[in-house]
Amino acid sequence: MGLTSRRTAPPRASKQHDDGVGRAPTVRDVHVQLRDASATRLMHTRRMRALQLKALGRMLVEGEQELLDALAADLGKPAVEAHLTEIDLVKHEVDFALLHLSEWMEAHHAKIPMLLQPASAKTEPQPKGAILIIGAWNYPVQVLLGPLVGALAAGNVAALKPSELAPATSAAIARLVPRYLDRRAVQVLEGGADVSAELLGLEWDHICFTGSQRVGRIVAEAAAKHLTPVTLELGGKCPAVVLDGNLHAAGRRIAHGKILNAGQTCTAPDYVLAVGQGMEKLPEVIHRAFVRFFGRDASASRDYGRIVNRKAFDRLVGFIEDAEIDRSVRVIGGGYDAETLYIEPTILVGVDPEAAVMQEEIFGPILPILTVASLDEAMRFINARPSPLAAYLFSERPRPHSVFEDQVRAGAIAFNVCNMHAAVSTLPFGGVGASGMGNYHGRYGFDTFSQLRPVFSKTALVDTLKIAYPPYRKGKTRVVRSVNLGSAGRQDVDVKPGDKPGM
Ligand code: NAD
Repeated sequence: MGLTSRRTAPPRASKQHDDGVGRAPTVRDVHVQLRDASATRLMHTRRMRALQLKALGRMLVEGEQELLDALAADLGKPAVEAHLTEIDLVKHEVDFALLHLSEWMEAHHAKIPMLLQPASAKTEPQPKGAILIIGAWNYPVQVLLGPLVGALAAGNVAALKPSELAPATSAAIARLVPRYLDRRAVQVLEGGADVSAELLGLEWDHICFTGSQRVGRIVAEAAAKHLTPVTLELGGKCPAVVLDGNLHAAGRRIAHGKILNAGQTCTAPDYVLAVGQGMEKLPEVIHRAFVRFFGRDASASRDYGRIVNRKAFDRLVGFIEDAEIDRSVRVIGGGYDAETLYIEPTILVGVDPEAAVMQEEIFGPILPILTVASLDEAMRFINARPSPLAAYLFSERPRPHSVFEDQVRAGAIAFNVCNMHAAVSTLPFGGVGASGMGNYHGRYGFDTFSQLRPVFSKTALVDTLKIAYPPYRKGKTRVVRSVNLGSAGRQDVDVKPGDKPGM
């Protein structure tokens, strides 16, 4: 297409690349270009998929500093965090996909019922086509480029819509992507809800959205118009139940899980349910961990992030102010500075379950701790609320593990650790119910963006199906039923790789 990477000023925000004849392509132009590329099967071959994945990997290595600077500008994200949770995480996904690409692309032979023999059958993953990926601001590299790995591995083309609330990262991605990836295969469209809405009005073959439940509903509604499948990676209130075990290690792990990215993490423990007696020390243990991480004044630490914008900051400060006027709540921390969008890691002890802070995802460095009498009560508390993206239990005993696994409904369950499951490429990552639908990461991303297509083949040289055609006389019915399609499992015949199709 000869697009160059010049970024243009509004009215179209800074979302397009010049098309080489002086006009910035519109959202519609980009959609047509991607559709054309998909129709010509641009990305179908293993070679092309691998080339684009390798290019993405190179982009993450060579563009590392540009991305680190952007993440620091948007979120005050410390470099180590940016590496671990964004750049390296996606790079690892790229390497993992390259390592397994051939295996994932393989067709699998399927067994065939006796009545339909001789024949051959297989399933083969097919690219879905043109994918729309809409990202959130909190992990603006990971949630945009992570799904792209799965989309490219599965042989698709994609439009990327980064979040306008992380503008430096959005701009960095819009600069880098056309420098490394084939512009016919991947396009970045910057902008806000207006650009999202325009994109959602067009027909895609799959939409992967990461963000809030409110916008998730808008996305699902728009997708329904075209019967487009959606993956919704949403948020929610992830609980951490502390039951027994090493209280100090539990406190440190909860503190770390919470405070990553200044609490703006979808899988962060949103609140703690401390079970029974003996938990009085937990708030101090968690507080001590915060102090150990960032010193007495976290605002002076280079390792502590900032709140994304004034609106989010005001909402979070509102929770602290509410707690400060409620005499039954003990506030540990609670400092803030509007100018630098800094909020001190803060613990709220003895919060009323009906308080505002317990009604919505906190998404900031504020950790309510509530006390419950038993594990049963903790699980009832969790299950009475919308399903979270993850639920954590701190206990070293196997019995509570199995009860928790059995009874708690959540996108993921983790024992004695928070967030880490999201870094494991062999696990699916996604929510359930209010926290989302579908999943990705590793093989699961490949599967999400593929259609698992069955192919069935049977020769017509000899018509062995004659036996199944009407009229259904008695003798024929008996023969057909004796080979019994219904119990195909028992009579399946495995067709070995290499058997001639259609025989
Ligand atoms: P958001 O829903 O406000 O925005 C997400 C994207 O939607 C942005 O690109 C935005 O431009 C677009 N958008 C906003 N309004 C829109 C509209 N009316 N129509 C169409 N598109 C619109 O979410 P956010 O504030 O960026 O992200 C925070 C949320 O994301 C939290 O709830 C968090 O838990 C969740 N999250 C989930 C995951 C996950 O993997 N499950 C990861 C990160 C964040």
